[in-house]
This record gives sequence, C-alpha cells and structure tokens, in this order.
Amino acid sequence: MKVHNEIVAALKSKISKKSWEMWFGTFSVKSVTDTLITFIVGNIFIKDWLSQKYDKQFKEAIREVFGRDVPYVIKDEISDGSFKTKVEKKERLVRKRPVVFSEFNKEYTFENFVVGPFNEEAYDGSLEVAKDLSKMNPFFVYGGVGLGKTHLLHSIGNYLLKNEPDVRVLYVTAEKFMNDLVMAIRGGTTQEFRKDFREKIDVLMIDDIQFLMGKNGIQSELFHTLNHLIEHSKQIVLCSDRTPTQLSEFQPRLVSRFQMGLVVKVYEPDVETGMQIARTFAKRNGILLTKDMAKEIAMSSDNVRTIKGIVTKLVFKSSKKAISNSLISDVVRDVVGEHIPIKIADSEKERFFQALSSVFEVLPAELDAKLRTARLSSARQIGMYFARKYMHKTFSELGKWFARDHSSVMYACKKIEESLRKGNPKVREKIAILQKLLHVESGKSVS
Ligand code: ADP
Ligand code: MG
Repeated sequence: MKVHNEIVAALKSKISKKSWEMWFGTFSVKSVTDTLITFIVGNIFIKDWLSQKYDKQFKEAIREVFGRDVPYVIKDEISDGSFKTKVEKKERLVRKRPVVFSEFNKEYTFENFVVGPFNEEAYDGSLEVAKDLSKMNPFFVYGGVGLGKTHLLHSIGNYLLKNEPDVRVLYVTAEKFMNDLVMAIRGGTTQEFRKDFREKIDVLMIDDIQFLMGKNGIQSELFHTLNHLIEHSKQIVLCSDRTPTQLSEFQPRLVSRFQMGLVVKVYEPDVETGMQIARTFAKRNGILLTKDMAKEIAMSSDNVRTIKGIVTKLVFKSSKKAISNSLISDVVRDVVGEHIPIKIADSEKERFFQALSSVFEVLPAELDAKLRTARLSSARQIGMYFARKYMHKTFSELGKWFARDHSSVMYACKKIEESLRKGNPKVREKIAILQKLLHVESGKSVS
C-alpha cells in the first residue's frame, strides 16, 4: 500500500490543485507489479482525458518512485468490471426501503456523458451533488437546448439509485409539477401533493423550470416546497434554459432562492470539442470518423443533441454504405435540415455586408478595405464567425470576401468562438441581431 501512496503523492505534486480536484476525484492505484502499474478512475471519459493530458506526469511520477520506467494502464471502473461504490453509505435519519419514485433513462449516466471544457463545470457540479447531497443547495444548471442538462439530472438519479438506494429521488419536469398540483387542487388532495413533494422524498429534481414563467400560483407552491426541503437538508436540483435572473415573471424570492446554492452553465461545444464528441459517439458505435468528417459534423451542429443525431443516423446508414464525405453531407442535411442555410445568389456578399454595416455602423466598402479601427475589426471578426457558422462559408471564401488571408480568418473565428464561450454579452447581442436581420436562427435558414 505504501508504494501506492507514494505514486499518488508524486503524481499529485505535478498537477495543479484545480486539475487534481477536477479530474482525480475518482483516481486510485489498483495494482503494482514489476512490469505493470494499473490505475483506476470513475469512467471512460476521465480515463481518456487523463491518458491524453497527463501521460507525461504519470511517467515522471513512476520514474521518481521506482527509479526506472514501468508501463502503466488506466482502467475505468465500469469496463474493469470491479466497480465498487466509493460512496460510503451515509446514515439517513430514517432508513427506508428502496422505493423507485422516478424512472431514469438508463443511457443517461455520468459514464456516458462526454466531458469537455464547455460542460465540465456542470458535470463536476452534478457529480459532486450526487456524491455529497445537500452540500450545494439548490444546484441550478442552465444552458441552451440539447446541451445535456436533462442527461445530467438523470445521471444524478441513476447514480443515486445505484449507490444510495435508500435515497428517495423524485424527478419531474416543471410541467408535471404544475399538472400534479392543478390535479391535486381540483381533486382536493393538496395535502397528499405536499407529502409527495416534501415529506416522502430526499432529493427533488425539476427539469425545465422556465416552464413556470408567469405562473404565479404554481410558483408560490414551488417556493414553499423548496423552503421546506432546504430546511430539512434535502437536495434540490433544478435546470433551466436561462439564468435565474433571466427568468422573467418569476417571483423575486424564488429567483434569490435559486441563486443561493450553486449555479452553473453548460455552454455550446466549441468546434474542437464537437469533433471529439462526434468521434466518441461514432467509436462507441463501432465506426471511425476522419478528422475532416468529424469537423463537418461539428461545424454543422451547435449542440450535442444534433451531433448525436447525425452520428446515430450515420451509423445506421453506414451499415449499408461505406462512410464517405458525401454520405456525411447527406446525413448532415437530413438531420440538420433547414438549419443549413440555402445558398444565396451572387448578391450574398453584398447583402451580408449591408447587414454588418447596419449592425456595426460602418460602411460596407470599409469591410474589405485595409483600414483598421476597433469597430471595423470587431465587425470583420464577428462577420467572419457568423458567415462561417450560419452561412457555411469556408475559410478561403471568407478570405476573399474580406480580402484577408486564411490565417486571419481562422484567427477571427477562433477568437469570437472563445468570446462566446466566455459568455461575452456584446458579441452575443451582435450575433443575435445579425440572426434576426438575416433570418437565421439556430433553427431557421437564410432565405
Ligand atoms: P437538454 O436537456 O440540455 O436540452 P439533453 O440532456 O436532452 O439536453 O441532451 C440531448 C441529447 O444529447 C441526449 O440524447 C443526451 O444524451 C445527449 N448529450 C448531451 N450532452 C451530452 C454529453 N456531454 N455526452 C453525451 N451525450 C450528451
Ligand atoms: Mg432537457
């Protein structure tokens, strides 16, 4: 055992505190022989991540402890087959027999969740909540459609069912919460409703809370429900398509309740991560994608659901045909449908420059000229990003439009992507205006 600890200590000294906490929570040394060291981690994605990012540190740590190189492998608990729950069963006040309150989608687990920079905060938060109930209360996850919020809620549910069967978890959509309440009021059974949502449970998860915007009566019941649960140290998990403060027509007391715990955001995957996700999904289904293929998929999707949809269809089609670039394009078109802008005629550039010029208050002719001012640079960069993402222009087409070289176009797109990832409100706003002007939304086409 001593040598196990030595390896862990050597490794830990080479890794920043934040990364250690983020990635090594489930890490341990499984076995050590003269010829092989086996490490174990919680799931396949952590395994992949650690092997990609920390190979150097692993090798150094091993060399430090053994004075020579010893090969190592990292296994994940699931495929290793020796899964043992790490969570020590906490003594609940009253122990109850396992009762299944909610059905969870078996596929929506932490193990099946692909983690990247865009969602790691939400992933870490959810895992933390599942392992340490009522520490962060409430836990509030928000972000756009198809980014994995529901998946994470179910993962918490599945995790608890497996590791803490005594914990009574109730998952409902906000719509169901409302319907149940309305039925209870009609049927004169609000006492039962309150028992169900307050006393009979240990964890309450409500999905798509934005559904209750403007529904004042339901919000009051929700407020009292949450208060009761918090007072009794019961975990609440909520998700929404927007931040608590953006929930318009929500009672301020509820909004401040939401903000009391941990609020985390899931972002859109950047292209790089989108490619990884596409490849991971494909690999799981036994098909391999080239970089270009993965890129085409990632560039056509702004959320994980779409990527998954494209890959699923591709897997289906590839059983009949070999995967080619043209098959990918067909499938992308099938799945994304009208998301893909219809090519506009020659006037496309003119029309686009007109829109940019009105949004940024610059002259169209300045956009492809030499002059550089902050305003012009910003108009060009956002313009390039936008045309690439929503009009599917290639870097070289954009280079021609803006009279810039390939690398400045790439730089501009990366830079804007990064600002969006950081949630820069100005950039978002400009893009939203352009979408309106050019009639492109995530779901609409350029017409
Ligand atoms: P949301 O609730 O945010 O709209 P969902 O949780 O319904 O999104 O996710 C949409 C689909 O994409 C689901 O099939 C889900 O399993 C999948 N998905 C989303 N994010 C991930 C992820 N990080 N890893 C694996 N699958 C994901
Ligand atoms: Mg959802």
